[in-house]
Amino acid sequence: MVSKIDYVTVMDIPFSNLTQKELLKEHIYPRINKENKTYIVTANPEIVMQTRIDDVYKNSVKQADFIIPDGTGIVIASKIQGNPIKERVTGFDLMFKLLAYAEKNQLSCYFLGAKQEVNDRAVAKVKAQYPGIKVAGQHHGYFTNDAEVAQKVAVAKPDLIFVAMGFPRQENFIAASLPLFNKGVFMGVGGVFDILAGEMKRAPRPWIKLNLEWLYRLIKQPFRWKRILKAFEFMFRILIRR
Ligand code: UDP
Repeated sequence: MVSKIDYVTVMDIPFSNLTQKELLKEHIYPRINKENKTYIVTANPEIVMQTRIDDVYKNSVKQADFIIPDGTGIVIASKIQGNPIKERVTGFDLMFKLLAYAEKNQLSCYFLGAKQEVNDRAVAKVKAQYPGIKVAGQHHGYFTNDAEVAQKVAVAKPDLIFVAMGFPRQENFIAASLPLFNKGVFMGVGGVFDILAGEMKRAPRPWIKLNLEWLYRLIKQPFRWKRILKAFEFMFRILIRR
């Protein structure tokens, strides 16, 4: 039986309060098996801040079946609010769990996003890591005709659709495209194809454990300082709301 979801709301965004295991075993896998269309948003503080200033984006995010806390800042905010979220669930780890499940269960995957050569390398890496994986299709993320690309993806009838176009682009694309599909798990995965393709490195495990992934990214990509500032503004707003 699929259990009811417990939510924790942070700045008007309802986060699913589930461990990664609960999310997958009790919700996502059963939904995949029943071919229930499923939309997952993996949200960090920058995404939450974007929903405050962009109503279209907020609407795209709120259409999700599961908004998962991908960001230490979200978990800390929930603790400060006195309603702690069980654990951080990263989009990165979730995507690999889903790929393993897809390989085991003969499910097909679509890889949409990033530059053409990055997309090619990312898909090649996935195929090398999961030799049994069924690739329903792939497409780069630099297009202007969203409806045309969404139609292309829909024709391939994938079971899992990973959209790596960064926010707000990926969630807006997914939310607008959903009506074209009868099934599929949709998930925005940001810069994961860049990491798979070796363009970007994920923070080493000890940094992740110490909740310093954001600092690692700032050091590697200093041009993103504005986004990091947003994450600090998020924490500040949570603290003054207390
Ligand atoms: N991207 C894309 N189409 C666009 C803009 C960006 O496919 O119109 C890709 C970009 O090449 C990169 C990813 O989206 O692979 C963005 O990654 P980023 O790290 O900015 O995403 P975040 O995880 O921060 O949302």
